[in-house]
Amino acid sequence: RVKERGRGSYGFYQPQMNAHLLSRMKMEHAMRQALNHGHMAVHYQPQVDMATGCIVGAEALVRWTDPEFGVVSPGTFVPLAEESGYIVTLGAWVMEQAVKEAAHWMGCGTPLVVSVNVSALEFRQAGFVERISALLAQYGLPARWLELELTETVLLQDAQEMQQVLDALARLGVGLSIDDFGTGYSSLAYLKKLTIHRLKIDKSFVGGLPGDGGDCAIVQAIVSMGRALRIGVVAEGVETQAQRQALQGMGCDCYQGFLCAPAMPAADFRVRMAEPATGAKRIAKR
Ligand code: C2E
Ligand code: MG
Ligand code: MG
Ligand code: MG
Repeated sequence: RVKERGRGSYGFYQPQMNAHLLSRMKMEHAMRQALNHGHMAVHYQPQVDMATGCIVGAEALVRWTDPEFGVVSPGTFVPLAEESGYIVTLGAWVMEQAVKEAAHWMGCGTPLVVSVNVSALEFRQAGFVERISALLAQYGLPARWLELELTETVLLQDAQEMQQVLDALARLGVGLSIDDFGTGYSSLAYLKKLTIHRLKIDKSFVGGLPGDGGDCAIVQAIVSMGRALRIGVVAEGVETQAQRQALQGMGCDCYQGFLCAPAMPAADFRVRMAEPATGAKRIAKR
């Protein structure tokens, strides 16, 4: 945005831009304080098996409640953290919380896969795989209970280097999923070449089910492709029974969405996953 103003315009007084920059800087400063002050938390959103209605996994989602700014949405602060590089610190913290939590679930005799979002910058850090391996060892969590969510943009970067990291993760036994599938620059070739375990259908497509013909066609195509390639498919942002039914009819494995539950604090999720007949199960059988 600054660039668009052109050369030589920086000296002019631009109150709007200054206010914007100031609030950005304030927010970034607050964000850097938030971890140490305990204002960040990791919440967990259930992933539900279509056929049985059982909770089969959870996505770890970071939450920030600031004394000054109130609840700040990840849609606002994650991009800020990505631009400033702070995502490396924040992401490492989220990863440790998630691995620790999944180890707790396993200790209770109910192991579940935890999915953690990984930004491009984190993924590119030297020693990324080694740090994950060390974390799993530290908490005694077998790698198969951890899944990393990458976006198509991550997969587009320096192909050779990326492939080496993905291969190392696959050897370790960590699951890999493609988040927001269909919204980035998809090169379908990588689905064949890389070890990808799951596709997460972006909620923008799910939102149009079952009425929108275009969304139905896209979702059906993704589900069919996933099945043919033996890659699991998870639908994101399922809010209604009609959407769930449409997805099940198309052969989708699994969903995530407010229909079952939003992301919740770790303590609430522990209670929820321990229920013999979960809300999700009742919905599926209705
Ligand atoms: P995402 O990874 O695609 O996560 C799914 C988003 O959809 C979450 O938003 C979740 O709360 C929301 N969602 C779940 N079910 C529904 C539903 O039924 N309807 C609607 N409308 N939304 C639903 P959230 O938590 O605000 O996160 C937004 C994005 O921020 C995430 O999108 C992810 O890209 C990023 N993010 C969140 N936590 C982390 C993190 O720990 N690390 C990184 N790198 N990114 C994160
Ligand atoms: Mg995600
Ligand atoms: Mg995402
Ligand atoms: Mg997504």
